[in-house]
Amino acid sequence: MTSASGSSTPPAPATGAEEGQTWRATQEQREGAVDLAPLLSGSNPWTVTQASAGSLRNRAVLQCDRERFSVDPEAVDRLFLELCASEALLVGVGSGLSFAAGYDYGGAVFARFFADFIARYHFSDMYRGGFHQFSSPEEHWAYWSRLILLACYHEPPGTTCSKLVRLLAGRDAFVFTTNVDHCLARAGVPEERLFAIQGDFGLWQCSRACHPKTYVNEAQVRRMVAEQRNGRIPSDLVPYCPVCAAPMCMNLRGGHPFVEDEAWEKACTRYQEFLEHIEGKRVLYLLLGIGDNTPTIIRTPLCRMARANPRSFIASISLEDRGHALAGTAVEDDPDLAGRCLHLQADIDLVLDLLLKRQEQKR
Ligand SMILES: [Zn+2]
Repeated sequence: MTSASGSSTPPAPATGAEEGQTWRATQEQREGAVDLAPLLSGSNPWTVTQASAGSLRNRAVLQCDRERFSVDPEAVDRLFLELCASEALLVGVGSGLSFAAGYDYGGAVFARFFADFIARYHFSDMYRGGFHQFSSPEEHWAYWSRLILLACYHEPPGTTCSKLVRLLAGRDAFVFTTNVDHCLARAGVPEERLFAIQGDFGLWQCSRACHPKTYVNEAQVRRMVAEQRNGRIPSDLVPYCPVCAAPMCMNLRGGHPFVEDEAWEKACTRYQEFLEHIEGKRVLYLLLGIGDNTPTIIRTPLCRMARANPRSFIASISLEDRGHALAGTAVEDDPDLAGRCLHLQADIDLVLDLLLKRQEQKR
């Protein structure tokens, strides 16, 4: 419907295609409401946003269910004894540790900085939204640049990772993780004691993996966030491989050939060397926040190692119940592991506090 030309009367209500335009206008208004400036400022959007939203969602979960997540002090005592008695520690870290530190991908921060994408695609959380097939690279990188900046270049609000570092200080320990968010390295886990097997939010690679190199993305990511409009970055910011001109992609395992660059290969070698070094020793295998996403990477091999080493002990801490946390590992049915296996269904941050307190008291 076209309005009568030359008429001074207001146009008739829109129908058909014009209704679509009305809807788009509303959408653009919504998109316009997403203020990305706090992502680029010096203050931490995780801390500010979650504090203004009341509290961390994970803390709220714990507070709502005190009984279920209360920590058994005897179990913490047992874990502390094993920690002190161990000659070496192999710590397997999953997403539950980052969640305990305050990286809540589905909470107030997601609602605030992804309101336009949520309105458009009904994403339930930041990470899952990343798997969406966006209509253009400009839209893809508008989404991913916000995600990378939040998950890689801003600290989580909690100090859980630093607590783990304090607990491991002076011990013969190695950390093996599926997390890709830099938290552990930033908190001070030494490079030579850390293997992030699944990649890194802070790195790009060629999507064809035409050469075994990764690229730090921080400067480009900041520009993408600063210069995007209506959920799209300018076309000239879309990254392409400097060798073969294919699109660049995240250096994350899954969906495309994964580049294992020199740093990754070195970390992998150090991990293998650590496994040889602890063979037959009194080892504490500690699983922190391991979920069900990729059980075969950390949970299954660590349980297998524990079973094979009669001097070892295996402990897990997560919000999952025991059956869920150790699912598929058969540790509970294994007589060889009787008395050498412990699961704490609890907040990792709280358990680390209790272990550090015991460590202080011991000194
Ligand atoms: Zn290439």
